[in-house]
Amino acid sequence: IDFRNEGASCGILRDSSQSPGSSVMSSLLQNAHRIVVKVGSALVTNDGRGLDESAIERWAAQIAELRRMGREVILVSSGAVAEGVLRLGWEKRPKRVYEKQAAAAVGQMGLVQAYETHFRAYGIRTALVLLTHANLVDREQYLNARMTLNELLRLGIVPVINENDTVVTSEIKVGDNDTLGALVTNLVEADCLVILTDQKGLYTADPRRDPSADFVSSAEAGRPELEAMAGGAASSISTGGMITKILAAKRAARSGANTIIASGREENVLVRLAQGEAVGTHLYAASSKLHARKQWLADHLRMVGTITIDAGAVSALRNGKSLLPVGVVGVEGDFVRGDAVGCVTEDGVEVARGLVNYSSDEARRLCRAHTEEIEERIGHLDR
Ligand code: GLU
Repeated sequence: IDFRNEGASCGILRDSSQSPGSSVMSSLLQNAHRIVVKVGSALVTNDGRGLDESAIERWAAQIAELRRMGREVILVSSGAVAEGVLRLGWEKRPKRVYEKQAAAAVGQMGLVQAYETHFRAYGIRTALVLLTHANLVDREQYLNARMTLNELLRLGIVPVINENDTVVTSEIKVGDNDTLGALVTNLVEADCLVILTDQKGLYTADPRRDPSADFVSSAEAGRPELEAMAGGAASSISTGGMITKILAAKRAARSGANTIIASGREENVLVRLAQGEAVGTHLYAASSKLHARKQWLADHLRMVGTITIDAGAVSALRNGKSLLPVGVVGVEGDFVRGDAVGCVTEDGVEVARGLVNYSSDEARRLCRAHTEEIEERIGHLDR
């Protein structure tokens, strides 16, 4: 089934003759430069039997290949709790929150060790980044996380991300790594989120129970039919966690990113996808990355301040260049780093909108400053 608009009434293009993974359409990963790959606990820990080193080795090999193809990759890995439970010799996943948190802390060591070792064999360094929901809703922390991840990617490192399970309580928890993968996709403005799971992708119903279930090869992310399929009473795909994947795709699409749900056990799946083979379920974003970002800036942000800029800065901005403090002649309003502000000409005409890296107090002190004076004037240097 292909949920593109040229199909049936809800945009479905049925293609039940094809087995999953052999579709003729091309892959959404083919032209993606920045990619977030999420691997689930069942895959990482061999269904709870212990860290699957050979699977981790295979993903490291594939990600190394993607890097050679010029792609940037961030890995979001689950499996800390599952691995911790094993290492602690517990028979099953504990119920109490603090036990799970302890297990996550123990298990995370195993994940870190395994990723570092297997990537090192390909000459790639990894970095551990543990995030919570609270980190991603606090604008300051959001920006810090974004800048750190951008810097890690610039340095050629593969960041390995998980939720900081040890410190989260239900209110500040992302809860599942599909959602975390989508939040990271938004955070770094990735082009594509690849969710590797133990299933081939999304079916219209649970294929184990319903022989008429069709494989969904492609659909627009965020379509309500998808949620109905995964969450509806008639289907139990959601037991495989499909609903969180569908919602993750919807979230990723908000920053213009496509999502692919595919089996992590499929041979060389990441490389084949990157080469254009349409393996798994492809959920595409309706709007482009640039459009999504501009739309977000235009619609969702309350402008909390105004920066008046000189004619030189106006023409620099219009030519797609950055705004430097030397072109800033005045600052109005009260804002913090990460807030949205409007840029106005000296006649008060708004010419641009953007997010500031400095507070209003700092920005005032930076008016007309040359870049090399920034640190001297406010004590630190940001971009
Ligand atoms: N953060 C959890 C872990 O590493 C996993 C959450 C999930 O699998 O969605 O064990």
